[in-house]
Parts: sequence; structure tokens; C-alpha cells
Amino acid sequence: MSDGFLKGKPKGGPDCDCNQCVHDKKLKFNAGTIGEIPLNAAYMILCDICGNKRCPRASNHRLECTHSNKSGQKGSIYEF
Ligand SMILES: [Zn+2]
Ligand SMILES: [Zn+2]
Repeated sequence: MSDGFLKGKPKGGPDCDCNQCVHDKKLKFNAGTIGEIPLNAAYMILCDICGNKRCPRASNHRLECTHSNKSGQKGSIYEF
């Protein structure tokens, strides 16, 4: 049930929630009384393959999964 949430949504599909898609499609999360907030502010966007937030694929589904959570990866929004 919450499994998909923890692993991140499948990237590259209509439901893709990579950081680039959140930005491009202006994806919002309905946070109730607070109102709508950007999806990537509501929860951490993770790579659907390796589950790492610093994987470049978590930032943009067009990038390859590196199976790495190292900082400073090219294409990742997490540069440090
Ligand atoms: Zn995407
Ligand atoms: Zn990955």
C-alpha cells in the first residue's frame, strides 16, 4: 500500500513525479489546511529504481539511474 510511496512513483510515465516533472507539470500536493504545496516539498522524490534521492534519475527521469546516493552527481538537484 504505502510501498509505492516509499519507493517513489514509476519514473517516465504519466504519474512521474521526478523533480523535473514536478517543475514542468507544476505538480501539487494537497496539504489540507495549508493548501497546495509543490509535490517535492511534500515528500522526498526518490529514484524508482534504486530509491536514492541523490540519484540523477530522481531529479530527471531522462537521466540514467546510477544506483548511487553520492553527492555531486551530474544532473541531480542535490549537488552537495
Ligand atoms: Zn519525470
Ligand atoms: Zn537510481
